[in-house]
Amino acid sequence: MFGVYLHRDGAGSVSHMTYDGLYALQHRGQESAGMATTTGEGVMVVKDMGLVTNVFNEYKLAGLQGHLAIGHTRYSTTGTSTWHNAQPVYRVTARNPARVRPVEFALGHNGNLTNTALLASAAGMLPGTVTSDSDVIGELLVRDLDSAPERDLVDALERVLPKLAGAFSLVVMDNERLVAVRDPHGYRPLCLGKLDEGWVVASETPALDIVGAHFVREVDPGEMLVISGDGTRSVYPWPPSEVDPRLCIFEFVYLARPDSRLYGQELHGARMRMGELLAEQAPVEADLVMGVPDSGMPAAEGYARRSGIRYGHGLVKNRYIGRTFIVPDQAQRAQGVRRKLNPLRSAIAGQRLIVVDDSIVRGTTTRAMVRMLREAGAAEVHLRISSPPYRWPCYYGLDTGTRSELIAANMTVPEIEDFLGADSLAYLSLDGLKRATGAVGAGFCDACLTGVYPTPPLPASVEVQLGRKEPVGTRLV
Ligand code: AMP
Repeated sequence: MFGVYLHRDGAGSVSHMTYDGLYALQHRGQESAGMATTTGEGVMVVKDMGLVTNVFNEYKLAGLQGHLAIGHTRYSTTGTSTWHNAQPVYRVTARNPARVRPVEFALGHNGNLTNTALLASAAGMLPGTVTSDSDVIGELLVRDLDSAPERDLVDALERVLPKLAGAFSLVVMDNERLVAVRDPHGYRPLCLGKLDEGWVVASETPALDIVGAHFVREVDPGEMLVISGDGTRSVYPWPPSEVDPRLCIFEFVYLARPDSRLYGQELHGARMRMGELLAEQAPVEADLVMGVPDSGMPAAEGYARRSGIRYGHGLVKNRYIGRTFIVPDQAQRAQGVRRKLNPLRSAIAGQRLIVVDDSIVRGTTTRAMVRMLREAGAAEVHLRISSPPYRWPCYYGLDTGTRSELIAANMTVPEIEDFLGADSLAYLSLDGLKRATGAVGAGFCDACLTGVYPTPPLPASVEVQLGRKEPVGTRLV
């Protein structure tokens, strides 16, 4: 997500800046892209399925004028991957003589609400009328605005935000203001940057770099930052007792770019430290340390440095691959690995390999990759994973499948080793991972690794697995 506010028209093209910002954030969502802009005289939205480069062209960007914009790339968690669910979400209030003109707003959401169904039914929304958690937020805001014409967008946000549960970093705009919000746990990142002539907010710091903004600070968990012609103003819609920072630890492991800074740490360095600690915790004799491109590379470098074993490349990744690649069944997913990776035979033939990756989720790609290395002549394959076993589904914005799909939820480490066909398999400890982040004393959500979920309510079947609730016959999620 990205947002920009310029103090005066003509200080730059907000649509081109948003395009650049979204391009830097493409890895966070590859299903759809969109942006909204305003000149102060109405909010205009362009969104479509596909990558940023597919959705926008010069013609569309030229039509998106103004001093204020937000943008979004989507990766679906709640709600299907359809045009309707592409963001920004747009709403306008009903005509009301008590208002000079209707309030128009657009909203981008990163995260996943855990009380979507409750919110929708409590507000009497008919099934099918709202199609995603982000759509529910838009609907609650427009209803709040419609119920009292003296309210503005910021008033409505102050009233609606405390009702939301789960993960939500938001960028919201109307004709005059850019608003950036982080839920009280701050599950998903959001940062503030300064331009000579304005302000930028973005999910990750590389989106600030690309538009020439300098990093000011992270938006605080539980903070609503309002940016307008009057400057910036912070509002805190939640009581301090509800604010408990829990940044997603998987942002450090996999999700965010290596050149991003979170909790004051550049992630490439944190990932190298993960590899170093992994080398201490799980040493093995071998000839070559290699990373699985791209996610395993920094940790592999760290492993090699600490172990003293030679670092090299053993796999080449097709740089045009994206996650939008359609993989209808499991057999095709395995074939997908061949589309993505190819071995460097001369580097690995006859070698005892230490193969480092950041995580194993379903095990499908890892298994196919191990087979590929063996076919290319590897003498031994020792897998080293720079995070602990991924055992629990995420309800806060990562789509890693149901519990039945997570390999570490269903098999022991020796069983996984066997299934993957590796000579050995070892994971980094949770303590090691937290130390490697370098963010001493900072709060993290590690629910995917520990099953400790900071925000209820969770689906009933998960509560059952956690032993908190009697079985109610729900399908295992
Ligand atoms: P698999 O063996 O199928 O579990 O795939 C493991 C690979 O998936 C690793 O290289 C991870 O970097 C990558 N990965 C981790 N989390 C995700 C995610 N949420 N979406 C897509 N890929 C992921």
